[in-house]
Amino acid sequence: MSQRRVTVSTMSFDQPLPAALSPSRLKDFQECPRRFQYSNVERLRQPATVATTKGNVVHHILEHLFHLPPAERSHDAALSLREAAFAHEVTEDIQADIDWASCEAQMRLDVDAILETYFEMEDPSSIEAIGVERNIAATINDAPLRGILDRLDQNDDGSITIVDYKTGKPPRAGYENDALANSQIYAALCEAEIGQLPTNIRLLYVAHGSTLDVAVSPVVVSARAKSAATVWQRINTFYADGEFPADPSPRTCRWCAYKDVCRERGVPVPV
Ligand code: SF4
Repeated sequence: MSQRRVTVSTMSFDQPLPAALSPSRLKDFQECPRRFQYSNVERLRQPATVATTKGNVVHHILEHLFHLPPAERSHDAALSLREAAFAHEVTEDIQADIDWASCEAQMRLDVDAILETYFEMEDPSSIEAIGVERNIAATINDAPLRGILDRLDQNDDGSITIVDYKTGKPPRAGYENDALANSQIYAALCEAEIGQLPTNIRLLYVAHGSTLDVAVSPVVVSARAKSAATVWQRINTFYADGEFPADPSPRTCRWCAYKDVCRERGVPVPV
């Protein structure tokens, strides 16, 4: 629960609004509108973390694994993609952010362990992926929405499943719906752009070997899309006003990369 909502200054923005709302931008706004301003309007850089970097390396390997013909998607093939993934994802800026020398050895061990776990979870040679890192966009309820699907699988009966790789922890009992929020927006986008509502969402927690596999509810997907449209209206209102309110609280500020920026601008960020 937030303690207070703070509006500090009145200004107008030199930068344009993003052309579309992605699930990650939506989450930024819902957690704290000011965070959305910093990240998506002012475009202040957020330093990388070890966790996000490891996630990007794993996503890179799995993306390129699925670019191979099905019969070639072996564990050895995945291991052979590691160096290219590290070279692409761990740039000099990111090395500086995460003190690469101190975490490289552990990250390499973690990535190898994740790949081993992944191959215990599914056999990629048996999967018909009709989309890999697929951009998807549509205007729904007057809101321009977009996203990038990790994977879209075609099932034997012609139905489709959204697959999202997760390198973090699975949700605690009772929090599964929050974990599904991004994919429910993706489901709305699939229905709008390709004319087919996915029947399932599958979240693969590849660091833990667990899967959250749920049937898609058209009612929930529609509600998610409506909620995103309401957020888009509020974003446009705050943008026109020249300020997005800060919503400091111990929970939202704890892991926020913009604590120093907020404090410099007079927002009472909890210690
Ligand atoms: S530090 Fe807190 S108030 Fe400031 S942007 Fe981040 S979450 Fe919002």
